Amino acid sequence: MVFKELEIQGFKSFPDKVKITFDEGVTGVVGPNGSGKSNLSDAVRWVLGETSARQLRAAGKMEDVIFGGTRRRGAMGFAQVRLTLDNSAHTLDLDADEAVIGRKYYRSGESEYSINGQVCRLKDVYELLLDTGIGRDGYSVIGQGRIAEIVAAKSTERREIFEEACGIAKYRYRKNEAERR
Ligand code: ATP
Ligand code: MG
Repeated sequence: MVFKELEIQGFKSFPDKVKITFDEGVTGVVGPNGSGKSNLSDAVRWVLGETSARQLRAAGKMEDVIFGGTRRRGAMGFAQVRLTLDNSAHTLDLDADEAVIGRKYYRSGESEYSINGQVCRLKDVYELLLDTGIGRDGYSVIGQGRIAEIVAAKSTERREIFEEACGIAKYRYRKNEAERR
C-alpha cells in the first residue's frame, strides 16, 4: 500500500493546512526535538482509525489531538487529516485509482470519517483496510514500545498480527461479525 499524500489541519502542532507528498522511494522526516515529526505519524494512525488517545500520545482525551494554541496563536476548533492512498492496482475494494481517507474531529466531540469524500463510519474505514497492514490493527506504524509489546504478547494476540500479514484477518472478522448477529 503506497501513501501519496498526507494533508493535516488543526492536528496537534499543525494549525495551518500542511500537505506532504510522498514521492517514490523512502521519505524521511528530519527536524529538531519537539518540531512535530512524531505528530506526523500520529496523524497517519489517527486518520486510519486509531481510537486510543494513549496510542496517539495525547494527554488522555481525543480532544487533545486538536491544536491547543500557543502564546501567539489561539486554539483551533477542529482537527482534520486526509490521507491519499494509491489504489491503481485496485487492492482495495474501491472502484477508484486513489483512496482518500479523511477524519475530522470537533472540540464539541462531533466526529466524521470519509472515504473519497463520502461520509462513512469508522467501521467502513476499518473494513476497507483489513488485511492491508495499515489499518487500526495493522503493523505498518510501529510506535515506540510496540516491539516489546509484540514480544510479550499472548500467543493469541501475536497470531492476530500474523493473520493480518497473511491477509486472512478479514475472514476471522467476518466470522465474528456473523456470530454476533
Ligand atoms: P523528538 O525529536 O523529540 O521525537 P518530534 O519532532 O517527534 O520530537 P513531536 O513529539 O512530534 O516532536 O511534537 C511535540 C510537539 O507537539 C510539542 O512541542 C507539543 O507541545 C506539540 N503538541 C502536541 N500536541 C499539541 C496540541 N494539541 N496543540 C499544540 N501543540 C501540540
Ligand atoms: Mg518524536
